[in-house]
Amino acid sequence: MTNKLSIRINNLPVSATLEMAAKARELKENGVDIIGLSLGEPDFNTPDFIKNAAIQAIEDNYNSYTPVDGYLDLKKSICNKFQRDNGLYYKPDQIVVSTGAKQSIANTIQVLINPGDDVLLVAPYWVSYSAIVMLAEGNPIEIRSDISTDFKITPIQLENSITKKTKMVIINSPNNPSGSVYSKEEFLELSKVLEKYPEIYILSDEIYEHINYGVPHFSFAKIPSMYNRTITVNGLAKAFAMTGWRIGYVGAPNWIAKACTKMQGQITSGTNCIAQRATIAALDASVNEIQYMVDEFKERRKLIIDLLSQVKGIKLNQPMGAFYVFPDISYFFGKTIKGKKIENASDFAIFLLEKSHVATVTGDAFGSPNNIRISYAASQEQIKKAINRIKKAIEG
Ligand code: GLU
Repeated sequence: MTNKLSIRINNLPVSATLEMAAKARELKENGVDIIGLSLGEPDFNTPDFIKNAAIQAIEDNYNSYTPVDGYLDLKKSICNKFQRDNGLYYKPDQIVVSTGAKQSIANTIQVLINPGDDVLLVAPYWVSYSAIVMLAEGNPIEIRSDISTDFKITPIQLENSITKKTKMVIINSPNNPSGSVYSKEEFLELSKVLEKYPEIYILSDEIYEHINYGVPHFSFAKIPSMYNRTITVNGLAKAFAMTGWRIGYVGAPNWIAKACTKMQGQITSGTNCIAQRATIAALDASVNEIQYMVDEFKERRKLIIDLLSQVKGIKLNQPMGAFYVFPDISYFFGKTIKGKKIENASDFAIFLLEKSHVATVTGDAFGSPNNIRISYAASQEQIKKAINRIKKAIEG
């Protein structure tokens, strides 16, 4: 039968992170002892005080449709969070709550990007940015960086990538997949370039804000000249171990927030009532409440770096945030290991899945063909076992 699907969906790539996670899940269900290090998902339980707030919300009969942009008291909590953690002043009419940061990003891109507009992505970038831009008929344009610059771009690179068609640049610090964190000074340098191009918007994805190992988090919108042009995206999934609760939000100029609400109102409406009530508890709490998870991620980071640096051919940087390592594995290209020819990062990721039963994600999906992403949001036991298996598969 002929494929009757739209050109839009036929041209859309599958999310590489979700695809690999699904593959790992399927193998596991079939009895294969897979260690899943593909998905960026904390393995902790949602803290009890958040769960209790959700239970209370059910008891209190929160069951009706919610305001499209989120409950007002939640938006006020978000404003307080922005002020407390980021020194950013937003009013509730500048906030839109959505079904995960992914929807916040999709809303923003849908309301700002016209067909043919260029959106600059700093590679490596999260897999869904480019797909979401394509859905809006924009052009994802990569600015490449690699391990030699700690996966960061310079102001000159940014300036050289800007054309008359550039409408937006997406920045993400701490970065998924590289773990790189831009310092305030580095962001100020980039903002000096953007000051020359007032028609460009900045989407700043700060979902990994709290998973930070030393370089203080700095919000791009904190730069006065950038505030009116920046859409700050954040969410609950990573820092609060709430991936399945699906809560993300933006702080933005209010005309953009209003447009995001209009978009969301036609697609999904207001997000889940129980999750919104729980989010108030999460955001009103001190960030110290989640520090134990960050401390544990820091231990795991040390562990995985120590172990991986003993594996021949793997080149690593020191990620300062998030919970991924993004090694350069180009040493293996052109080599045959255990009868399998490795031509590229996808081959390598498949090799690891088949020969060591460890799920990772190919760097191609993140715009970095020399790398693979390994998530260390898994127990130390699992990490040790996984890297041991990888070493064995590679070195025999
Ligand atoms: N953001 C996470 C990741 O990169 C979750 C999966 C996804 O939505 O891409 O693994």
